[in-house]
Amino acid sequence: MPTLQRFEYSQIRMGTDTRIVVYAPDEAHALRACRDAYHRIALLEEKMSDYRPDSELMGVCRQAVGRWVRVSPELFYVLWRAQRLAQQTDGAFDITVGPLVALWREARRTLRLPDPQTLQQARARSGWRKLELSRARRAVRLQVEGMRLDLGGIAKGYACDIALKTLRRYGLTRALVQMGGDLVVGDPPPERLGWQIEIPALSQKEKPVTLTLARCALSTSGSTEQYVEIDGTRYAHIVDPRTGLGLTHLVLVSVRAPNGITSDPLATALCVLGERGIPLLKRHYPNIEVWIQSA
Ligand code: ADP
Ligand code: MG
Repeated sequence: MPTLQRFEYSQIRMGTDTRIVVYAPDEAHALRACRDAYHRIALLEEKMSDYRPDSELMGVCRQAVGRWVRVSPELFYVLWRAQRLAQQTDGAFDITVGPLVALWREARRTLRLPDPQTLQQARARSGWRKLELSRARRAVRLQVEGMRLDLGGIAKGYACDIALKTLRRYGLTRALVQMGGDLVVGDPPPERLGWQIEIPALSQKEKPVTLTLARCALSTSGSTEQYVEIDGTRYAHIVDPRTGLGLTHLVLVSVRAPNGITSDPLATALCVLGERGIPLLKRHYPNIEVWIQSA
């Protein structure tokens, strides 16, 4: 067994600081594997970004109104997982929030809430039931003009999974991939039981929890970092599909799950659902662990 050295890289992907840590026999090996892992994430971004008009996802939003459009296997898988969770959470997790997220981004720019009519129009263009998937055709159909899909709550977790899988193909199983609040880990560092990961605390009064993790994913989502304050109320970048507006309560949710495509959207969903969502989600995903901090 050659001795393994630690290598760490950081690049911006999907608008997020993307950190990869690997233990490899030498630097050339680490670089080859990590370059490929970053490249795979970039390919996913080309498919799933809602910021790029030329992404596969934005093409679907333009073309799939009232007709079936066939999509790539990766995009279909992510859409499928998202829709399954939408059904399980009765729409608390909802990737059709695009028009509402657009209004939130505008509010952040102008520091004004949308007027009721604008909000109503955006709500008419969202709702998970208006997005149809056909497994047989691997295709997507949108029921309403002007719908806009947003994978911001699920794509990073999936991208972490794909990056870890890529590293494994190079024989690098002792690895960690982190994109902002989403993190997946493979085998532990040499002679360790796991990767030491700290769950961020909502307030400085709380003591942060440190976990020792291996072969799993941990995602943290909340209303504490990205928000706009209007008339003394904070509206977070996570939208409550029932109101159409950003969450106004303070919450920070961490979810440990077998993989990132599970932990990422579950953390987002639980921000909307709160404590009452835990038993609901544990029924569907028995091997998750959840930490909810709220104020
Ligand atoms: P972050 O992207 O900051 O890590 P999340 O994983 O919680 O945080 O995802 C938040 C993003 O998900 C938002 O920026 C938006 O693009 C999208 N989103 C907002 N509200 C919802 C929702 N109710 N269901 C699904 N996705 C949402
Ligand atoms: Mg998420």
